[in-house]
Amino acid sequence: MKLLLTGARIIDPAQNIDSRMDLFLENGKITKVGANLSKAIKSKDSDKTIKIIELAGMIAVPGLIDMHTHLREPGFEYKETIASGAAAAVAGGFTSIACMPNSNPINDNRSITEFIRRKATEASLANIYPIGAISRNSDGSQLTEFWDLKEAGIVALSDDGKPLMDAALMRRAMEYAFSLQLPIISHCEDTNLSGNGLMNEGYYSTILGLRGIPSVAEEAMVARDILIAEFTKTSVHIAHVSTAGSVRLIRDAKKRGLKVTAETAPHYFTLTDESLQSYDTNFKVNPPLRNERDVAAIKEGLVDGTIDVIACDHAPHGRTDKEVEFEYAANGISGLETSLSLSLNLIRCKILNWPELIAKMSVNPARILNLPKGTLEAGADADITVIDPQLKWNVDVQGFRSRGKNSPFNGRQMQGRAIFTIVGGEIKYALPSLKL
Ligand SMILES: [Zn+2]
Repeated sequence: MKLLLTGARIIDPAQNIDSRMDLFLENGKITKVGANLSKAIKSKDSDKTIKIIELAGMIAVPGLIDMHTHLREPGFEYKETIASGAAAAVAGGFTSIACMPNSNPINDNRSITEFIRRKATEASLANIYPIGAISRNSDGSQLTEFWDLKEAGIVALSDDGKPLMDAALMRRAMEYAFSLQLPIISHCEDTNLSGNGLMNEGYYSTILGLRGIPSVAEEAMVARDILIAEFTKTSVHIAHVSTAGSVRLIRDAKKRGLKVTAETAPHYFTLTDESLQSYDTNFKVNPPLRNERDVAAIKEGLVDGTIDVIACDHAPHGRTDKEVEFEYAANGISGLETSLSLSLNLIRCKILNWPELIAKMSVNPARILNLPKGTLEAGADADITVIDPQLKWNVDVQGFRSRGKNSPFNGRQMQGRAIFTIVGGEIKYALPSLKL
């Protein structure tokens, strides 16, 4: 299949490109990028197999990459399957996703990694990169077989969902993973400090009478992991940064030249703990929504590059997980289908410009995970997201491809979204109203 995309504004931060150009895709690769390709290609190649898509007013970017997705298969297929998660990914504009290991069983051995990759191939939608567990069963006591997992196809290691409380084990994990060029993704939470807290500790937890999780529960662990990475001369990636103190610690570490990278999720720059007044369990996430000062700091961290990546932390759940008392409700937001639109608000509010935002959602996660993705240069895989920046739409969770309908953004009006998503040169998602 050959595709010619004409007239879009092409934004490729990896090549410093931001201009109106055409893209020609053949056999799953981008073969030509340039102005006015259509005449040359049409006259030279008179066969009728070329599909031409006119994209005036649209923005074409390297396929978006989400480095923090929870697919629930194996074990929790009622929340999400690999196929439904992949469908949600392409509907949200993501051509590649990396999935956390906290399925049941946990992805702590080769057979689970191979199972995920097989299911991903069957689904044939987004590229799916498994993340392996750091510790067996993610119980924090014994390291998994990093080398074996790497050979089976993992791209990173994490016990996400749970913090690795044993600092000595984290030290060994960082040393061993670094030698294998596998990034460690740390869910930073000191469970002695977070205890059985339910929301951010502060004014609203006090007036709502809900047990608090102090910001220092996250920050103490961010500090610890930065220190271990420094001591061992290795690297660490901090997952879902939510507090001002974490941003400051990571900023200081980067200034000192340490190999620390970080991500946040759209809800941490969009919502505060004030939302919990509704007791709506869709606002219950871990780490919890913080206060306005934290939200402002997250935005500053995005602006100055302290935070490298915007990741979804897509955490789909079933109704029975969320429609219970607040105390018992599961943490998480089904985020793949709203992440891009929420992030586009950063451009409208002049916090980030287009290349900066697209870098945080494509080339930066590709670099951290060592994926050969995140660019539109000739020869690259033809993974492309086409965005209509003006399109207004309303979030309706019943229309989600994800099985997880748990979104606090249900009903919200959005502006801008992916209108089609190309993976390996094939259109894997097109907005139903489009006539292609
Ligand atoms: Zn986590």
